[in-house]
Amino acid sequence: MQTTDIFDGIKEAFLPESDYKPYKLWMPKRVVITPDALKESYGQELYERITGHGLHVEIMKNNRITGLRGATERETYKIAKNTLAIVNAPPSTFNLRPIPPSADWQFHLAEGCPAHCQYCYLAGSLSGPPAIRVFANLPSILNNLHRFERLNQHTTFEASCYTDPLSLEHLTGGLEKTIKFFGEKENSYLRFVTKFDAIQPLLNIPHNGHTRFRISLNAEPVAKRLEGGTASVPARIKALRKLAQPKEAGGGNYPIGIVLAPIMPIPDWKEHYTSLFDQLSANLDFNCDLTFELISHRFTPGSKDVLMEWYPNTSLEMDEASRATKTNKFGGTKYVYTKEVMKELKTFFEQQIAMRFPQASILYWT
Ligand code: SF4
Repeated sequence: MQTTDIFDGIKEAFLPESDYKPYKLWMPKRVVITPDALKESYGQELYERITGHGLHVEIMKNNRITGLRGATERETYKIAKNTLAIVNAPPSTFNLRPIPPSADWQFHLAEGCPAHCQYCYLAGSLSGPPAIRVFANLPSILNNLHRFERLNQHTTFEASCYTDPLSLEHLTGGLEKTIKFFGEKENSYLRFVTKFDAIQPLLNIPHNGHTRFRISLNAEPVAKRLEGGTASVPARIKALRKLAQPKEAGGGNYPIGIVLAPIMPIPDWKEHYTSLFDQLSANLDFNCDLTFELISHRFTPGSKDVLMEWYPNTSLEMDEASRATKTNKFGGTKYVYTKEVMKELKTFFEQQIAMRFPQASILYWT
């Protein structure tokens, strides 16, 4: 189905949640492919797959993607978020970077995401118009990973630093290839996180326990107000249950993870997050391999500037005066909650998890 308006997803996010309505799969308005990408076997596969969805794929004259800029930043955002570009990842991406505390290394199947989260962490990480770029040289990207494997030790690879890979899977099939690839590895493990729910095609593929499928969740008011174009929270929880269920019950038998992010002390936050935990307890009522990652909201001066251009009317709180500052190792500043607020939040979340999911581990709080 063709997306007719950039805010279709946002309207969807405001529907009542009682119906568990699955997310409408994203269809870009414009798809382009570069000549180099088309030379790749996976590039040709993408071309076939996407035209098979009834979308026209424009072949560019050279390897530069043009036509992404509008008259204003808002216009540029709108054009870019409706564009899928099939390109080759540049050579620099083959030199992997560590990504603590989430994993040993990060690598990328794509960059950009069709959703409209008003706190989106990509605002601080990617530059230029936020078009969605899928990498046609995926086989080379995967074959490069062995260079970073630790000898006779588990090595973890994170694939969602610059994208939400499930949001694109119906168009790319790249996640399926990647999960299968890791399924054949001895000591390498894949991790990624999503706010989408189209998991069905991935339930029966041979992951061999080497993929931790994580779902990002939040309190209902945060998701409804700030996470435009994503699957609803109940739909994500339903997907999580299915992913973790054993094969006999029709599930995917995946190790799963819950990423609670970004945690925000909104009015009545204890009540809203308790209600989220209630839903989780009701749906994960069986033994499963479960981890939690707890990430409080933060922003940088740079990410705030970009987000204010993308979402000028946002109600997201980014008030420097009410925050504490942290300096990273490169001298950059980020705004986090004050020590007192952090302590209260951390205590609450740790207690809830210990009480409801004593078998689960909390990987980190930040
Ligand atoms: S789903 Fe993730 S990557 Fe996509 S817009 Fe939301 S925060 Fe950004």
